[in-house]
Formats: sequence, C-alpha cells, structure tokens
Amino acid sequence: MSDCIFCKIINREIESKIIYEDDYVVAFPDINPQAPVHLLIVPKAHIDSPLDIDDKNKELVGHVYVIAKKLAKQYGIDSKGYRIVSNCGDDGGQTVHHIHFHLLGGRFMTWPPG
Ligand code: C5P
Repeated sequence: MSDCIFCKIINREIESKIIYEDDYVVAFPDINPQAPVHLLIVPKAHIDSPLDIDDKNKELVGHVYVIAKKLAKQYGIDSKGYRIVSNCGDDGGQTVHHIHFHLLGGRFMTWPPG
C-alpha cells in the first residue's frame, strides 16, 4: 500500500533500524518504546489488522511467534518472560493499520493493560 508507513519501512522508502528480516516478516525497534525491549514484528504482506487473519494467512501468525521467541532470546528477555501484543481497531488501540506484533520485555508487565 503506497501510503502505509510500515510498507514504506519494509520497502526501505523511509529509514528504520531493521534488526531482523526473512521472507515473511521484518522486525525493528518501536520509535516510542514502552519497555526496555520493545520491538515490532511486522508481516511484509499488507494486512490491515487481526480482523483480516483467515485460513489463507493464519500460518503467518505462528511464524511471528517463532520469530518473537528467537528475538526474545537474542535480546535476553526470554528467561523472565515477555509480552506479545497485537492491537486491533480503534478500541484495541491500533494506530497503524498494517498488522504488527509488539514484543515487549525487560520489565514486569501489569495486567490488565490500560
Ligand atoms: O498498536 P499500534 O498500531 O498503536 O502500534 C503502532 C506502533 O508503531 C506504535 O507503538 C508506534 O510507536 C510505532 N511506530 C514506529 N515507527 C513509526 C510509526 C509508528 O515504531 N514510524
């Protein structure tokens, strides 16, 4: 999508510090980190939100979780734990309408989230 900020990051049209990339996803630090480790794992395919996950693309979500585990180990947050968040829609707090998964760790996460 031409006006999507995450598509622009994926296509290197705007700068970001991509720390992981494979055929299906990229990962980069969130510009407004909410935890000592706050990475975004973003599928390369432009999918608007979790509402658009279906039988055709559901394996992508499992792949994201495998990569999250790999990155959690790499960033040293696997032993104490971490949180994966995918906000959906306005009430879910989604501000970028290209599906993404926040990987947060390095501090205790309270519940419920605000
Ligand atoms: O879940 P939500 O859609 O609100 O998350 C979008 C996230 O993308 C925010 O945490 C924001 O800080 C991040 N962001 C970013 N780089 C951009 C634009 C947004 O890391 N250029």
